[in-house]
Amino acid sequence: MNVEIAPGIHRIDTPLGERRCSVYLLAGSDSALLIDTGLAGSVESAILPELDRLGVEPERVRLVLISHADIDHCGDAEAAKRAFPRALLACHHADAAEIGSLEAMIERRYGQFATEHGLVDSAETLAWYRAAGRFAEPDLLLAGGESFALGSGWTVDLLHVPGHSRGHLALWDPHSRAAIVIDAALGRTLPTRSGEPAFPPTYRDVDDYLTTLDRLAALEPELVLTAHYSTMDRTSGMVFLDESRGFVADAEAEVLDALGNSLSSTIEVLQRVGPALGAWPVDTVLAALAFPIVGHLERLEAVGRVRRRHDADGLAAWEAT
Ligand SMILES: [Zn+2]
Repeated sequence: MNVEIAPGIHRIDTPLGERRCSVYLLAGSDSALLIDTGLAGSVESAILPELDRLGVEPERVRLVLISHADIDHCGDAEAAKRAFPRALLACHHADAAEIGSLEAMIERRYGQFATEHGLVDSAETLAWYRAAGRFAEPDLLLAGGESFALGSGWTVDLLHVPGHSRGHLALWDPHSRAAIVIDAALGRTLPTRSGEPAFPPTYRDVDDYLTTLDRLAALEPELVLTAHYSTMDRTSGMVFLDESRGFVADAEAEVLDALGNSLSSTIEVLQRVGPALGAWPVDTVLAALAFPIVGHLERLEAVGRVRRRHDADGLAAWEAT
């Protein structure tokens, strides 16, 4: 359902199978800003009809901000460039290579656990990526700290909130105290539309993610706006940020628990910790679970609590120290 969440801030749902996936339109008196594009086809099927309903002409959109490198957020960038001819396509410089190239996204983000951890995408998944992504080269690279003036004194601030990806961006509206965080905080489990557990929280860099969660909580937002969860007010937003932090602590404890004195492959660690962390169908979420769990293994390795070895095929194997 599409709604005006706060003055000028519109939440627009785009198709993502059984999961919710929202983009946000900030419509000011002078210009409008769109955060994310959804998967290929979303601009035409979901975003343009909503702009039309709101009376926002496509020429008023001056910035299409991609929150981060994931196909459900930048998959329709090519169509967005065509639909919004006066807009610049912008993202954080740390995610720009993947956002600008579907093949770079497949190899460097989704394929990052193939060589060393033995997690290879199926032909079906690869075909889905290629059907769902129509990428475009960004026009403008950002760092966080920038502000955008939308007219009549309304200015919003860009925040660099890494963790889920290195270059994740969020927007802060000081006027409504809305934090548009997209996937910068991911709770305990990504839900389906009907509230069933769909997917683990796919943060990748644990320390960055914790810093981001603290930073978002310190804003004391009145609204926490994500891509895949319902709209949260101040109270439910704070609970959500706490739960996001709680999952990180639980995941780290489960990883340590899962490692015996004998070597375990990454896939074995994932299969052991998965059922303790969420009610997901473990085999279908293995590749997603690798994001946080490899993140925890690397973090524990850095402080000397876990050792990484490699087998004859070059696959990582882990043991507690
Ligand atoms: Zn997402």
